[in-house]
Amino acid sequence: MLFIGSHVGFKKDSQLLGSLKEALSYQANTFMFYTGAPQNTSRYPIQDGLTLEALSLMKDNEIDYSKVVVHAPYIINLANDKDPDKFMFSVRFLQEELERCELLGIKSLVLHPGSHVGLGVDNAISNIAKGLNMILGTHDVTILLETMAGKGTEVGSSLEEIKRIIDLVDDKEHIGVCLDTCHLNDAGYDMSKFDSFLDQFDSIIGISKIGCVHVNDSKNPLGAHKDRHENIGFGTIGFDNLISIIYNKRLEDVPKILETPYVDREYAPYKYEIEMIRNKKFDSHLIEKIREQD
Ligand code: FE
Ligand code: FE
Ligand code: ZN
Repeated sequence: MLFIGSHVGFKKDSQLLGSLKEALSYQANTFMFYTGAPQNTSRYPIQDGLTLEALSLMKDNEIDYSKVVVHAPYIINLANDKDPDKFMFSVRFLQEELERCELLGIKSLVLHPGSHVGLGVDNAISNIAKGLNMILGTHDVTILLETMAGKGTEVGSSLEEIKRIIDLVDDKEHIGVCLDTCHLNDAGYDMSKFDSFLDQFDSIIGISKIGCVHVNDSKNPLGAHKDRHENIGFGTIGFDNLISIIYNKRLEDVPKILETPYVDREYAPYKYEIEMIRNKKFDSHLIEKIREQD
């Protein structure tokens, strides 16, 4: 069965129920959300009433909640311990994120490994593992380290770096990986040869560690180290390659999440992209169609 969805909002007054309704409006059967704004750490208390209502609506719609994931805000940087207060702020915030996930019944939390900001990759990797070891094991939530494009001083743009972090984590049961097709392309992994990529992943990390796939096309060529997402089929990875990834048998049970850009920064493309993915047929007029909606 295909688990396909997109990132959706999470608002103060509607919370999980609002996120679910947005996902259902895209005909998605899974979704990803930030528990507040992705770029900051101000968070509202979780309202259990809204969570319960969402859970019952999920049942009605046969949504498998174990496939729904949360994304940690990107200002968390466990790689940087230059300022110990800042480092501990990141650790504490991530700990609170795990608690929020647990309150919501969420099992997987996607995290960007971090940026070394001049400290070098070796220090960064040991800092990330140090931070993760302070919080893992306290909650039944798995942290999925996202593969990064290698923009700036980002850590985690190679499978070897991700593997080194995992090796240093004590609680192996609660650590996994989130693939991002745009980031992998920009990091230099050829997505047109996805099966050989998976073989490589399997020999370095192990396929069972993959807990989520972010499905995005890329605005930039292979190895550009840029990280700019493009709508499905309109970028350098291309529709057929993305379809092969989405329907790859070895990742059948893994949720696929779109993080493609809004059209004109205004119109969500997800309903249209999901329809195109289910039909397995590229629609070159998709962008115009999205513009003309409502
Ligand atoms: Fe991400
Ligand atoms: Fe991503
Ligand atoms: Zn990205």
